[in-house]
Amino acid sequence: MNKADIAIIGTGPGGVSAAITAAQRGKSVLLFGSAELSPKMAKAEKIMNYPGFPSVKGADLAAALKAHLKDMNISVTEDKVTQVYDMGGKFTLQGASSAMYDAEALIIATGVVPTKLYAGEKELLGAGVSYCATCDAPLHRGKPVAVIADSPEEEGEVKYLSEVAEHVYFFPLYKDKPDMGGNISVLAEIPKEISAPTFSSRLLKTDKGEYDVSCVFILRRAIAADQLLPQLATENGHIVVDRQMCTNVKGVFACGDITGRPYQYVKAAGEGNVAALSAVEYISQKNDK
Ligand SMILES: Cc1cc2nc3c(=O)[nH]c(=O)nc-3n(C[C@H](O)[C@H](O)[C@H](O)COP(=O)(O)OP(=O)(O)OC[C@H]3O[C@@H](n4cnc5c(N)ncnc54)[C@H](O)[C@@H]3O)c2cc1C
Repeated sequence: MNKADIAIIGTGPGGVSAAITAAQRGKSVLLFGSAELSPKMAKAEKIMNYPGFPSVKGADLAAALKAHLKDMNISVTEDKVTQVYDMGGKFTLQGASSAMYDAEALIIATGVVPTKLYAGEKELLGAGVSYCATCDAPLHRGKPVAVIADSPEEEGEVKYLSEVAEHVYFFPLYKDKPDMGGNISVLAEIPKEISAPTFSSRLLKTDKGEYDVSCVFILRRAIAADQLLPQLATENGHIVVDRQMCTNVKGVFACGDITGRPYQYVKAAGEGNVAALSAVEYISQKNDK
């Protein structure tokens, strides 16, 4: 399914709660994230403040949420959303798989991952800086590219790029650097800055060198909210919402850690419920016009 009433980005307690409420109110949902739900839940040793579960392991809470989704026939679309386009009352979402999805309303429940942008990244996004290897690799066929990745999960994308590009300068930001071979240089350097010396070349500066490439692919587990949808109002990395979880963009709602502190499961779940009800109300008002 590539079309739904409500698209929800994120499978933590915020996104899952939003999906459950939206489905209960008869709306179709596209829930983007991971079948394992949220890495933060998997890490929590013991949760003691989630109502109804006096002492529960994060993994067990995740299993209960998974069972609830299954019970309601809500499936998880395992695609990382890399960009959202506001089509004037409708939204088109681009997945890292290069699939496109459409929805009437959008709920952002991505959680927070501290992300510091590289100098030049924001300005050159879409012009020699890309978040999606599958989507943009063909534009750089036969040319050198750089890839910065924050998790080993992206190594498949690096291999794919090496089949298309002339050479891949790979900067894994995690501990165990892989041995990739072929036309991939694995570099233990810290990227600092991206610039555009000419129309078609991009210069990646690191703490140790400079790399002249056609494109810099930045593959992060999470993408900052205002990178997903640039017109979103944010403050200190959080999406600004009102009590109905409405953002400044009509038809876009947010819930969970991404709307600000406290970072707590029950706050995320409660906000997910409110965001879904607001999205349902928004769709019904739109249809009445
Ligand atoms: C070790 C640890 C212990 C904790 N213990 C507690 C506790 O005891 N009690 C408590 O209340 N809270 C606790 N927390 C905090 C709690 O985990 C968070 O508040 C909660 O998970 C936030 O939920 P969320 O729905 O906002 O997002 P998250 O749980 O962060 O989930 C977001 C999901 O969205 C996905 N996603 C992000 N971007 C995209 C994208 N572009 N496309 C597709 N998917 C995307 C992510 O991969 C992730 O799966 C703990 C956190 C940690 C790390």
